[in-house]
Amino acid sequence: MMHLPTIIIISIILNTIISSFLMSLYVLRKQKTYLYWCCSCLIFVFAQVTAALRAFIDLSFVTHYIADLFIIAAPLAAILGIHAYNSTEQNKFTACIAVLLASMIILLPIYSSSFGQLYTTVVIACCFCYAAYALNKLHLGRISHFLLLQICFVVHAIIMFCQAALLLSAATALLDTQQALAIILISHIVISTCTALVWPVLMFLESEQVLTDLANLDPLTGLLNRRAFLNLSATHLQQANDCQKELCALMIDIDFFKKVNDKFGHDAGDEALKWVAKQIQAQLREHDIVGRIGGEEFAILLPNTSEKNAQALSERIRLTINNQLFNYKQQSISLSLSIGVIKRSTGSNINDLLAQADKGLYQAKHNGRNQVVVAI
Ligand code: GH3
Ligand code: MG
Ligand code: MG
Repeated sequence: MMHLPTIIIISIILNTIISSFLMSLYVLRKQKTYLYWCCSCLIFVFAQVTAALRAFIDLSFVTHYIADLFIIAAPLAAILGIHAYNSTEQNKFTACIAVLLASMIILLPIYSSSFGQLYTTVVIACCFCYAAYALNKLHLGRISHFLLLQICFVVHAIIMFCQAALLLSAATALLDTQQALAIILISHIVISTCTALVWPVLMFLESEQVLTDLANLDPLTGLLNRRAFLNLSATHLQQANDCQKELCALMIDIDFFKKVNDKFGHDAGDEALKWVAKQIQAQLREHDIVGRIGGEEFAILLPNTSEKNAQALSERIRLTINNQLFNYKQQSISLSLSIGVIKRSTGSNINDLLAQADKGLYQAKHNGRNQVVVAI
């Protein structure tokens, strides 16, 4: 059996270290989410210290009432930390303060009885359920490992509901629950500490992802920008050259796009670019590479693709745009694409390949637009 005082001491030390780490992240990055999580860890330390005083002093106002309020405040601060990630914590601030104030009033007459503990347990179980829900709502990018944090919250909520059930049966003298409650207390401390550790790590990974996206993605369409497209394509072309595999490149340009801007406005033009990007992407396989390499120009690299298949795909892309109308604020805008296609020739580099595809595109424009031309 684990030794409770040892676990409490380790948890206090770990949470103190994590909170100073979070504080330094806040000072460094000025992101409030770190500040709230730092507060959450510190409050949890206070909760443990005040609750642990039970072993030394007989002052239940401090060791039960104040400790319980700290225990409730810790997940509330974590919830604000989650919302601070996308700056929506102001909306939740009043609700969190209300929960805390209500708890101050409700706990006052019952804190020294097991009903006080029961109330605290149910409140924090609900807080963890809400935290898991709030994480889901945040749409924290593509990072699926936020699931890990969500699992921490859900497991925590389940543990707390188990504790509530045990406390209820103890209150009705159905079971001797002392040992089970001790195990739950240990789980509570361990999982709280784990959660406190997981959040900053995930935030770091997410920040890294955001920075990589900023460097590589076109902010309007979310496609690769020119530099990232060229880098990634060069690697694939090199592999195709090394293994003598088929590969094709496409250059796409929207026809008479200037007229769209002139007639419907620049915002309509921007939305049209997003729409076209989405339509193109929908036609591609997962390993095809697509980028917005100029104002209304897109490039695509198709690994393991024959010229015939590249031409067929280009035709599909052209028809998708040609057969639909783009709707913007009750206006229907007709768009078309000109596309140049080229297959890899031995030893070519990415700039040569795209220049050749560009020749096909030029020819398509010259021939009257809204068509696919395979360059030779
Ligand atoms: P063509 O058929 O010969 O390609 O004609 P075009 O009008 O499409 O060609 P041109 O290169 O003359 O004009 C491209 C236009 O694309 C000019 C510019 O205003 C517009 N454009 C470029 N980037 C953006 C953008 O990010 N947003 C919007 N709204 N328009 C853009
Ligand atoms: Mg154009
Ligand atoms: Mg152009």
